[in-house]
Amino acid sequence: MAKQTHNTCSFCGKSRSQTRMLISGIDANICDECVAQAQQIIQEEMPRRQGEAFAEPDVRKPRDIKAYLDQYVIGQEQAKIVLSVAVYNHYKRIGAALKQKTEKDAPGVKGQKHPREEEVEIEKSNIILVGETGTGKTLLARTIARMLNVPFCIADATVLTEAGYVGEDVESVLTRLLQAADYDVPAAERGIVFIDEIDKIARKGDNPSITRDVSGEGVQQALLKLLEGTMVNVPPQGGRKHPEQRMIQIDTRNILFVCGGAFNGMDKIIANRMQTNVIGYGNTFTHQVEDEHLLRYIAPQDLRKFGLIPEIVGRMPVVTYLEPLDRTALKRILTEPKNAISRQFTRLFELDGIQLTIDDGVFDFIVDKAIEFKLGARGLRSIFEAILTEDMFNLPSEKDVKTLHVTRDYADRKLSETSISRLKVA
Ligand code: ADP
Repeated sequence: MAKQTHNTCSFCGKSRSQTRMLISGIDANICDECVAQAQQIIQEEMPRRQGEAFAEPDVRKPRDIKAYLDQYVIGQEQAKIVLSVAVYNHYKRIGAALKQKTEKDAPGVKGQKHPREEEVEIEKSNIILVGETGTGKTLLARTIARMLNVPFCIADATVLTEAGYVGEDVESVLTRLLQAADYDVPAAERGIVFIDEIDKIARKGDNPSITRDVSGEGVQQALLKLLEGTMVNVPPQGGRKHPEQRMIQIDTRNILFVCGGAFNGMDKIIANRMQTNVIGYGNTFTHQVEDEHLLRYIAPQDLRKFGLIPEIVGRMPVVTYLEPLDRTALKRILTEPKNAISRQFTRLFELDGIQLTIDDGVFDFIVDKAIEFKLGARGLRSIFEAILTEDMFNLPSEKDVKTLHVTRDYADRKLSETSISRLKVA
């Protein structure tokens, strides 16, 4: 090792010529990039090391959980209530299991029975969130994890494959959780995993396929292992690039899985089921639900019909839906959440000593454009960004400018000058 110390960074291995600066120590060197990265790690890790992060989950009562979610997520009342209860029960269940274990292990009570706690094993309640893309599914899961102070990761179901096929093994999901937990295994074991696009691994058609279905049923079977609650061997570095790595065992029993998907076409499945159900009871109910938002009637059997295997549906007993975001909701997203986009930009300018003020009409304009470009909630930020980019580029250098007032006309002009107008979806 010492041989190379003059000319390479001892951390990333870059040569002196590849770095802007290489600082030498007694036996090692460090480059400017590694210093910056190390600084970031220190900032993130310090509180954790001092026992603040990932100590015990900060579990609140369902109403308090919902109140917390309300600060960050607009609307989605039903999903928030269902999630709050599911999360509360999940962590209560972990607490009860721990208590039972401690009491069992406690000296002096050997052989003694605890009739209240014994034999009632509360089952895990993994959750499925059904709703259009960009309606807040990931945001809900992420916000809950932040509130609880538990490790959180997002996995995309579409890249997962059965072991042996090109793509990621399902265990990679746990690698990510482990990384989010900074390799603190007990913390990872009570973390939250968000699996996005679960609908994309539905099997095609209602019949179990005879041939092997790499991207659908096979992945569901593989995923089932994680959901069921077993010990899983997890490659700490992930992937298959490091065959030599030692596996870490993770118990998935207390990991909460939240799955999300748009489930396009689900409304027809629900409508069909409801029409079949009402046969013989008169048709009034069918008429009643016709023009409503059908997703609110989603039930586990609809997920099966869509193509999730019964075992997966069985392991995801909590099913709820998210509403499409209307104009009012989109406008509220711009201004109301604790970390609303408008607040973030105001803060950014403030850091340069510039007071940003935005007319209410600008928010309407941004919402109009997000709808026109079919970008939904995700587009709000890019449109905002496009309107302000030029000012964010110029104003920090202009010493005399202390305020920026954005009107609707100004926003319209700035946006038409940028390339975002080309984002318009036909
Ligand atoms: P999904 O997982 O449903 O596809 P996301 O949760 O990733 O959607 O939402 C994308 C972005 O849109 C979020 O980061 C957030 O900024 C915004 N957003 C979407 N829905 C909401 C909502 N209900 N309340 C606040 N912001 C939202």
